[in-house]
Amino acid sequence: MTMTRCCYGCGVRYDATDARCDCGEPLWLETDLDADSPEWPPESDAPGIWRYADLFPLDPPAGATASPPEGVLAAAGDTPLLRTPTLDDFAGARVHVKVEGENPTGSFKDRGSALGVAAALDEGAQAVGTVSHGNMAMSTAAFAAAADIPCLVLVPEDIPEERLAIIGQFDPSIRKVTGDYGTLYERSLEVGTDHGVAFLNSDVPLRTEGQKTTALELCDAFAPDVPDGIVLPVSSGGHASATWKALQELHEAGAIDDRPALYFVQPAACAPIAEAFQRGDDEVSRVDAGETIAYSIANADPPSGNRALEALRDTGGAAVGVTDDELRAAQRALATEAGLTVESSSAVALAGTRKLAAEGTIGSGDDVAVVATGTGLKAASGGVPADAKTVDISAIADELAAFGTSD
Ligand SMILES: *Cc1c(COP(=O)(O)O)cnc(C)c1O
Ligand SMILES: [Zn+2]
Repeated sequence: MTMTRCCYGCGVRYDATDARCDCGEPLWLETDLDADSPEWPPESDAPGIWRYADLFPLDPPAGATASPPEGVLAAAGDTPLLRTPTLDDFAGARVHVKVEGENPTGSFKDRGSALGVAAALDEGAQAVGTVSHGNMAMSTAAFAAAADIPCLVLVPEDIPEERLAIIGQFDPSIRKVTGDYGTLYERSLEVGTDHGVAFLNSDVPLRTEGQKTTALELCDAFAPDVPDGIVLPVSSGGHASATWKALQELHEAGAIDDRPALYFVQPAACAPIAEAFQRGDDEVSRVDAGETIAYSIANADPPSGNRALEALRDTGGAAVGVTDDELRAAQRALATEAGLTVESSSAVALAGTRKLAAEGTIGSGDDVAVVATGTGLKAASGGVPADAKTVDISAIADELAAFGTSD
């Protein structure tokens, strides 16, 4: 496999470690599949994401192929896909939930962190870094800690203390950065390589490679078929691009005949991709973001927005925005109908499925894979306020007698 980077848009190829094409669009790694690879579904028994090593530009790290597997690099991916009939009525389709909260740090970001950190070690980087104040920061720091490579996390100055503490438990070097945090994403990529710091930001080529595995696992589970649709919460467009790339590669290799439609969901208060899609625009424009409880997917100027838009057109999908009330209802349904706790940013996927099914874009008989991107266990209530009354121990028998006859 090569490490040549290429532009999905204009096709230009780069041998250096650029993350961006001269046309401004993000690059991804060129996949140079040989005649009989990938074997589909794979026969590999490598753990987690490494099952799909045929579709990666690097070999699995030694620990991942050891028996038993060693270290957290071997633990990203291979998350459950649950058929959840109890959610069909709410959604208006046949729901399958991909439980990304089962990853080591509770989100799909671990897929890209595992591959990105393994590649950074392979390429002799001095350190890894990321520009994030949420799941990606935590995930990159955790995988760097396990691989014993220094990690630099650049957060905004006004980051809430409790989020800093969650990132801090893996002991990365953290810098609170003042100035225009929105431009730091690009700036870190420009200066990182000069100083031996491999920045694993949300849509860089290596993170994208690792994040292909969500879609690879979905197609693997449905093999030889594929789901009718894949629904993703979208912010930077990195995961969306990776999903599209995975489907392209499987299709081009003849591993799958049809590709699922991709559906992208954003909070209505900050929905640049969904708005561009609905207007029929060729490019995504920056929006003025409003407030939303799904703040971790509120990217007003997504670096892979245009690439995500292209993915929608190419797969015959659609994008929608959902309100906070709609996403709260979905978060509650996931918890109370399926026993699944997801963060607000993930709940938008089920809320969007419901909306797209109501307008007929998703059919009631469609098998849709709703990607629950992150666990709800990092937040307090998961959208369902606890309902607890106080009872003295002396009254416990009466309480149990009443329980079951009351609610
Ligand atoms: C990062 C993240 C997303 C959005 O992914 P992008 O690749 O930035 O589009 C969605 N949900 C959760 C839980 C995330 O952590
Ligand atoms: Zn280009």
